[in-house]
Amino acid sequence: MTKSLYGAQEASAIWVYLEQNQGRLTGVSLELVGKARELTDGRSIPLVGVLLGDQVSGLAQEAIAAGADEVRVADHPLLRQYTTDGYTKAFTELILAGKPDILLLGATPNGRDLAGRLAVRLRTGLTADCTDLRLEEDTGLLVGEVTGFGGGILAYIKCPDNRPQMATVRPGVFAVPAPDGARQGKVVSVPVNLAKEDIKVQVLEHVDGQGVDITRAQVLVAAGRGCQGDLALINELASLLDGEVGVSRVPVDEGWASRDRMIGQTGYVTRPKLAIVCGISGAFQFSVGIEKAETIVAINTDAEAPIFEQADYCIVDDMFDVLPPLIEAVKRARGGNGGR
Ligand SMILES: Cc1cc2nc3c(=O)[nH]c(=O)nc-3n(C[C@H](O)[C@H](O)[C@H](O)COP(=O)(O)OP(=O)(O)OC[C@H]3O[C@@H](n4cnc5c(N)ncnc54)[C@H](O)[C@@H]3O)c2cc1C
Repeated sequence: MTKSLYGAQEASAIWVYLEQNQGRLTGVSLELVGKARELTDGRSIPLVGVLLGDQVSGLAQEAIAAGADEVRVADHPLLRQYTTDGYTKAFTELILAGKPDILLLGATPNGRDLAGRLAVRLRTGLTADCTDLRLEEDTGLLVGEVTGFGGGILAYIKCPDNRPQMATVRPGVFAVPAPDGARQGKVVSVPVNLAKEDIKVQVLEHVDGQGVDITRAQVLVAAGRGCQGDLALINELASLLDGEVGVSRVPVDEGWASRDRMIGQTGYVTRPKLAIVCGISGAFQFSVGIEKAETIVAINTDAEAPIFEQADYCIVDDMFDVLPPLIEAVKRARGGNGGR
């Protein structure tokens, strides 16, 4: 077995990577701070957020309000844009200096990229795309829950010997904690040893994706194969309810909808207040992405569809018959024109 660069005896604290994009903290960073706070409750484990970027110390208080005891800030002009080599080098040095026991990162595109690199550099294990995290009662080891074999099994993975114990979690799996503006924490500036030659990639332009973020939607109207490529009613209802359109994998594979709208195991984990799920069977790989919805209304022609086991309100009918009167009812309730 490969030996890690430091041992369990020297390690302490849970670290959360506070990923920022253009000077804004990603939601998943705060979700992880909230979960880490829950893990450390009743245990004397410090919770440290780690911020890398250029002039980003202003974001530290947000992480403290979410539950961090301390935020270490690595500020450097060469960390302005995310680069694999720059961030890996700076973060590896921080980790070797601070020796965290556990390191959590968001499974965003950059978080995934960074986590893999760090794990190799530090010669430790990484449990990717966890659906839950806990600390083992007797040993205090981090246990990451992941789905395997296409969702057929739940696996629990731990990393007993090497440090840090690393895990990534996708956005939306945990809730963003309510901020406590009165919380106090330490903000520590840490040195960054980076030169231009360390970074082989040159970022010429930064373009923000135009896609939607369904993980933050309060209302989702979701369509599957049953919509047969016709999303007009789905779009209309979502817009009337100030919600977003979500889909199962079939509309994405068929080219009816973009991938950023896909709910599920390989799509996004969502937690809307209301999900209206139309023409979707409710396969496990879809359901894990919607199970945290407060209320699920399912419309399906098949009374045996698995989605009905998950739904709070079950409508066994054709979505093309159910949606038009539903849309009219919402319009009437909103004063004739949708009230917008
Ligand atoms: C490793 C792996 C990862 C995966 N990841 C994901 C994922 O992230 N997200 C995801 O969604 N899937 C994922 N899948 C695919 C998943 O297993 C299912 O195949 C998929 O979710 C099925 O989509 P669906 O429910 O739209 O289609 P179907 O299973 O074909 O169901 C269509 C449903 O529509 C109903 N219907 C048909 N016509 C109407 C109508 N007019 N009105 C009302 N109901 C109607 C039918 O009764 C049926 O229940 C993954 C699969 C694998 C193996």
